[in-house]
Amino acid sequence: MTSDTPCSAQSVAIIGGGPAGLMAAEVLSQAGFKVDLYDAMPSVGRKFLLAGVGGMNITHSEAYPAFLSRYAGRAPMIAPLLRSFGAEALCEWIHGLGIQTFVGSSGRVFPTDMKAAPLLRAWLKRLRDGGVVIHTRHRWLGWNADDSLRIANAEGELAIRPAATLLALGGASWARLGSDGAWVPMLERRGVKITRLQAANCGFEVSSWSVLLRSKFAGAPLKNIAMGLAGLPLRLGECVLTHTGLEGSLIYALSAQIRETINLQGSATVEIDLLPGKSLVDVQKALSKPRGSRSVAKHLHNQLGIDGVKAALLREVVPAASFADPALLAHAVKGLKLTLIRPRPMDEAISTAGGVAFEAMDQRLMLNLAPGVFCAGEMLDWEAPTGGYLLTGCFASGRAAGLGMVEWLRHA
Ligand SMILES: Cc1cc2nc3c(=O)[nH]c(=O)nc-3n(C[C@H](O)[C@H](O)[C@H](O)COP(=O)(O)OP(=O)(O)OC[C@H]3O[C@@H](n4cnc5c(N)ncnc54)[C@H](O)[C@@H]3O)c2cc1C
Repeated sequence: MTSDTPCSAQSVAIIGGGPAGLMAAEVLSQAGFKVDLYDAMPSVGRKFLLAGVGGMNITHSEAYPAFLSRYAGRAPMIAPLLRSFGAEALCEWIHGLGIQTFVGSSGRVFPTDMKAAPLLRAWLKRLRDGGVVIHTRHRWLGWNADDSLRIANAEGELAIRPAATLLALGGASWARLGSDGAWVPMLERRGVKITRLQAANCGFEVSSWSVLLRSKFAGAPLKNIAMGLAGLPLRLGECVLTHTGLEGSLIYALSAQIRETINLQGSATVEIDLLPGKSLVDVQKALSKPRGSRSVAKHLHNQLGIDGVKAALLREVVPAASFADPALLAHAVKGLKLTLIRPRPMDEAISTAGGVAFEAMDQRLMLNLAPGVFCAGEMLDWEAPTGGYLLTGCFASGRAAGLGMVEWLRHA
């Protein structure tokens, strides 16, 4: 240990400079506390910036009951967080940073320029102007025997003793951006209940594609399809056929259901409607028309516009005999069954499910077994689909934890 830097009673430490940690830093500095924020990476907000690369979807404009339902089984725990800082409050807060937002056709909310960087820049300036000190390349390693925080930096290891600590360490995907899940054993050693981290909003693998399908169609988008777990309602959308299975927004939206089915049954069968705009009867009628000497592939193309990756997927999955039977082929077009055997590795996922169990914390998000230590963001045990619900949950929990720390510090 190279130094021991006790903080004054009103100093707080925030570990993790993602949206959750930064939001708590803002609440605490505005309440007059001295805030030191530590992050292992050379800069903060790296995943937030990545989220902005394809168009930063920061929240969603749908009505509150629908919005809350996106948190599924964790909705009761997320509700109090959203009540004090939900989608509307978040938009107002963004506008306060000088960034305008717009609602896309799907109801998703984006900054006008779709980017995360201007927002983060304006926010970091405001935080620094408000006195928040950001220590990058400072990695939290856990606690010393005397409960001080172990923070490693280039010079060695610090032991710091803040009046309260927030852990906002993120989930366990895209480890190269900082959120590596290394906190799990550290908290488990303190007896904190952690629900196993798993990939969420992720792609899935099939047992194997043929070489032909992989070589010709990996990367091809499956547009205008509908998909769902066999026997459940299908969702419209699109996804991408990959070397190992499927990726993309439609499969992400179904990923919690698919993952849990795989957990229970070892695999999950999804049903894909390749032509959701046409009824089974119409598809069967079209395929029953005489095709003369034309191949079935030509017939599918001429009658229904099915070709490319959709045709190749049919060939891959449907037994050859069914191609000769218009009724069987029509059923395959309207309900192609595909068995998915595992999610892609967690590090590739947009987010992770699992984390610090809500019953391990009080309503201020303070750990029951570690008074003065709070948790927020994706490291809590909740998940949500893409659509801005992830960031909203992180901002809301960061704010709630910040307010919880203020309350606890004032009454401690
Ligand atoms: C490709 C991609 C696109 C996304 N797009 C969207 C989107 O459009 N909309 C949306 O709502 N969500 C999106 N998300 C999800 C969203 O970015 C995350 O849910 C959110 O960033 C999590 O915030 P957080 O503050 O909890 O954690 P993070 O943003 O992961 O931040 C955690 C921080 O903790 C630091 N840290 C971790 N361990 C330590 C340690 N031991 N010591 C010190 N520091 C540590 C990390 O370096 C990191 O800076 C996307 C995610 C990805 C990967």
